[in-house]
Amino acid sequence: MEKVAVIGAGLVGSLQAIYLARRGFQVEVFERRVDMRKDKISAGRSINLAISTRGWKALEVVEAEKTVREIVIPMYGRMMHDKNEKLHFQPYGKENEAIYSVSRGGLNCRLMDEAETYDNVKIHFSHECKDIDLENRSILFYDHNTQKEVEVKAARVFGTDGAFSAVRKRIQMTDRFNYEQMFLKHGYKELFIPAGEKNSYQIEKNALHIWPRGEYMLIALANEGGSFTSTLFFPFEGEPSFESIKTEKEIRDFFNEVFPDASKMMPTLEKLYFTNPTSSLVTIRCEPWHYEDWVVLMGDASHAIVPFYGQGMNAGFEDCRIFDEIYEQNQGEWQKVFQEYSKARHDDGNAIADLAIYNFIEMRDKVADEMFLLRKKIEKKISDKYPDQWMPLYSQVTFSHIPYAEALAAGKRQAKIMDKIMKREDIKTVWDSQEIENEILRLIAHA
Ligand code: FAD
Repeated sequence: MEKVAVIGAGLVGSLQAIYLARRGFQVEVFERRVDMRKDKISAGRSINLAISTRGWKALEVVEAEKTVREIVIPMYGRMMHDKNEKLHFQPYGKENEAIYSVSRGGLNCRLMDEAETYDNVKIHFSHECKDIDLENRSILFYDHNTQKEVEVKAARVFGTDGAFSAVRKRIQMTDRFNYEQMFLKHGYKELFIPAGEKNSYQIEKNALHIWPRGEYMLIALANEGGSFTSTLFFPFEGEPSFESIKTEKEIRDFFNEVFPDASKMMPTLEKLYFTNPTSSLVTIRCEPWHYEDWVVLMGDASHAIVPFYGQGMNAGFEDCRIFDEIYEQNQGEWQKVFQEYSKARHDDGNAIADLAIYNFIEMRDKVADEMFLLRKKIEKKISDKYPDQWMPLYSQVTFSHIPYAEALAAGKRQAKIMDKIMKREDIKTVWDSQEIENEILRLIAHA
């Protein structure tokens, strides 16, 4: 059996190990951390993610979907909380279309369990990749248990070691490798809404909660057991910002003023705000995603994106599925497999990176805007009536397998049409009319 190395047993690395195991490789996975299944502390705080259609499909192909379904909570739409504590619900898609909240640690544990059901997968924990030797085709690890360096040879190397990938760092030094990273001026901090009485949910369990406030926002996703993990996306500097809020009284007063209903449900706000880290948000683009026929990058190692479309992991899971399809068509021709994969995914990686940045503005700012909501209502009417001609951009990204780059291009065409329609001064009164419908259909035909 040909031996391949997967570096990083995070979400994407664990899934890729399963895909490779099913192809009959001897899969050696190397993970910097200790085994989070045995050491609860290393599993970290309760952070959750949203899985959507692309993620599910990639799990389905390798029959890993069932175990994940057991630990998810469907979210059928956005629940917006305004400053007056009023709630507004916007469905994400058609009836029963949902994205699914899941604990990052819980999901990672399930995927590692699933990978280990294959005899040909071995996960080596506490093995940190320090370097790869491109000439001699060997990988250098530091084993934190033995405190010794270990050299490993593998026929192929899958770099799934996240946004600050050690594997990518090495390839970055090769000729004609393009690399770009961009941090947002906003960072984030995890906060917490505990369960109510008898493990009840204090707010709607099956929605993604958003407190949109222009330059910043708070969100909350349900966990199993009644609690919510909440995340504050906030500027690093300026007024207000992580820098400007300095005392426990200041953060409580701020929350009471701008997120009053959330504040009442957050008894540990002050403690968590000052003990949890403030994390940054980065977009990383690079090209190509491989080195010759030896190393290939997947997941955040090749395309780290900001989290506002809930697609980082979904895109990484889709990498695994598409890589496998390309492998199927070109078995044995590794150079071709790597090249085609890199070519096929690179534009999509860029597209979802752009979409994710755009969605930050939409989430924190526009979702509370009356004209924006009307625009969505018109789009929904057209897409319900003419599903073959109009699929909202959010649905293309979240509920379909349309390549991200195509979704972005279609989204731009649709945005142009909607910009024209929304310019009509009487749009608030005529939006539901036959005239508007005809005009949209005419514009679609000429787009
Ligand atoms: P990671 O999850 O970062 O895993 C990398 C693994 O490699 C880790 O286990 C790490 O320990 C290991 N590693 C790192 N360096 C080394 C080394 N040198 N040697 C060995 N091992 C190493 N995505 C979604 O799809 N939906 C969401 O709702 C969503 N929400 C998000 C919210 C936030 C706040 C953030 C920050 C991200 C969110 N994402 C979401 C994105 C998602 O978390 C990432 O896209 C996903 O985790 C990428 O998986 P990965 O396996 O590529 O990288």
